[in-house]
Amino acid sequence: MHEVSLVRSLLNQVERLRQAHGGTTVTRIEVEIGPLSGVEPVLVREAFDLLVADSDWPAAELVIDEVSLSARCKQCDATFNIESFRFECPQCGSRAVNVTRGDQFRLLNVTLETPQPMESPA
Ligand SMILES: [Zn+2]
Repeated sequence: MHEVSLVRSLLNQVERLRQAHGGTTVTRIEVEIGPLSGVEPVLVREAFDLLVADSDWPAAELVIDEVSLSARCKQCDATFNIESFRFECPQCGSRAVNVTRGDQFRLLNVTLETPQPMESPA
């Protein structure tokens, strides 16, 4: 189950972001998972629940965006969504297509809690 090591490095990435931005804690983590990423959203969720409990911000929420597959035709430059893994251009029928979205597991957004601004002296 390689999701555990993926989520572990994701949490490390988030922790580095938190430190870089001076956040006190992490409240929300949003990731994108495409059908060609080789990553199972259910297993990511399980690994996250397991690992976040041991992190410095156990209350952080995970939001998973399951994106669809998009591609661009190399022949006619049309862009389209790929349905049921049919890698064929709907416009010209070419099979020479580049996947433009849906082949990644990546971090989209992190929501941090930052320290309260100092109150000005009365
Ligand atoms: Zn085409």
